[in-house]
Amino acid sequence: EENRRLTAIIRSSDDAVLTKDLSGVVTGWNQGAERLYGYSAGEAIGRHVSELIIPADRVGEEGRILREAAAGETVSFETERVTKAGEWIDVSLRAFPIRGLSGEVTAICTVGHDVSDRRRRERAEQRNSEALIWRKRLRRALGNGGLVFHGQPILDLASGRVDHHELLVRMQLDGELVSPGAFLPFAEESELIRDLDLWAVEQGMGIGGKLPVAINLSARSLGSRGLLIAIERRLSTGAVAPGDLTFEITETAAAENMPGARELVGELTRMGCGVALDDFGTGYGSFTYLRHLPVTQLKIDIEFIRGISDDDADRRVVESMIDVAHNFEMTTVAEGVEDQATLDLLGELGVDQVQGYHVGRPQPLELG
Ligand code: C2E
Ligand code: CA
Ligand code: CA
Repeated sequence: EENRRLTAIIRSSDDAVLTKDLSGVVTGWNQGAERLYGYSAGEAIGRHVSELIIPADRVGEEGRILREAAAGETVSFETERVTKAGEWIDVSLRAFPIRGLSGEVTAICTVGHDVSDRRRRERAEQRNSEALIWRKRLRRALGNGGLVFHGQPILDLASGRVDHHELLVRMQLDGELVSPGAFLPFAEESELIRDLDLWAVEQGMGIGGKLPVAINLSARSLGSRGLLIAIERRLSTGAVAPGDLTFEITETAAAENMPGARELVGELTRMGCGVALDDFGTGYGSFTYLRHLPVTQLKIDIEFIRGISDDDADRRVVESMIDVAHNFEMTTVAEGVEDQATLDLLGELGVDQVQGYHVGRPQPLELG
């Protein structure tokens, strides 16, 4: 009677209750397990848990569970599992030994509980508070001179000289320099990105009065009158020559706002500035944008450059990018050049300029 009652409880439990032998092969699988993991009892019993629901990079966990439970211990932890449909779920697990009549451990029982919703909420909350912290830091840095530009040289292959430097923003924080990857995504989700772009334009055009530079603009800048006015006003002082300025906009930003991109590119080139299409090749349908955007330069994304010495397909893609660019009378820059072999190959393919750690890392500029 007692046994039957226990069996009924386990069967109908909301939790996924499963039993396995000491090597990890499933011997019992309740309805909760069917619901949570997607496999029926018939499908699961007789198979090893690690080939059913444990993600490849977590198989080591199972060894630990088996060892500790076999030694008589109860193990509780939160982890991830993969369902029959291939969906990743967050589960809280508790594994404990089942003992035979003489007290020896004969099997292991695992009780799993879906905590995906809670973990999702926690992750969202954590991201929100991170966003708040980074926006606050950025606001402060914008206000008190806590942002600096590093410059990375872009080498012209024909002349063998540095053509210009790309300006890359860094945040000074507790004596360290933070790369834009940490704060830019959060800035881009708020109005702060306008302030950052305005800062980059003001600061960058100041540096541009001393040496040729490229300034990155965010997607939000496309079609922003305020930014264009700031650039125009600064140019009208004559302190910086438009030919010494290149503005970089990413291909994805342009794709998301074609009218804005056309207006910005049109105005900037009319003023005599260069405009580069950044991260070229990473978007969808890259080549179609070229017809509509009179940019002066294509920056071929590192993704394609990395592989050219040993991947024939990458090499051919880069070759066609260079071809197309030249047909449209645009110059080409290869990003992410990290070794001499790649640099040599790019020269053979006809790239105009190269940028990357092999040429020079981003570093503080000597403005003399
Ligand atoms: P990006 O415009 O594609 O800039 C190139 C990134 O690649 C830089 O990262 C640079 O340090 C890195 N890099 C350069 N050479 C190599 C190489 O040989 N190998 C590898 N693996 N990486 C290389 P960084 O400085 O962290 O900047 C990241 C992104 O942040 C930039 O990507 C750009 O989109 C954005 N960003 C940087 N400064 C500004 C800014 O002032 N304004 C705006 N709106 N965005 C900026
Ligand atoms: Ca760039
Ligand atoms: Ca880039």
